[in-house]
Amino acid sequence: LIKYALQCDSAHEFEVWFSSSSDFDAQLKRGFITCPVCNSSKIKKQLMRPSVSSAGNRRQDNLPVVSQSGMNPELVSRLRALRKEVERNSEDVGERFPDEARSIHYGEKPQRGIRGKASVKEARELFDEGVGVLPLPVLPEENN
Ligand SMILES: [Zn+2]
Repeated sequence: LIKYALQCDSAHEFEVWFSSSSDFDAQLKRGFITCPVCNSSKIKKQLMRPSVSSAGNRRQDNLPVVSQSGMNPELVSRLRALRKEVERNSEDVGERFPDEARSIHYGEKPQRGIRGKASVKEARELFDEGVGVLPLPVLPEENN
């Protein structure tokens, strides 16, 4: 069974179960689907909504970013210094980052600082598991 979120031409929203998507198409074509509020048979599917429902979850879809343009040059150089400091004190594990971060989090490997690459999706999964991850600021190299 598939649940469809539907909407009539008067914007009444309702949900109906169908045995399959072709069942939905067939019933729609024959005008068998009508709005429970106004009885209109001009029905269309509602736009897909994100599967996460709480506002707290939705916020995690976005990573915080800052614009370097117009930022105080001193702050930019401090960020650059911070990045170097992080790089000096962590091991670059590259693409293995999500696995390594999990192993350390769950105590399968000794505690140590690591850095590497993770997609937004991977970073979010780690975040959801309670594995702390931070985006490392990416800055253009100095011209010297
Ligand atoms: Zn209606």
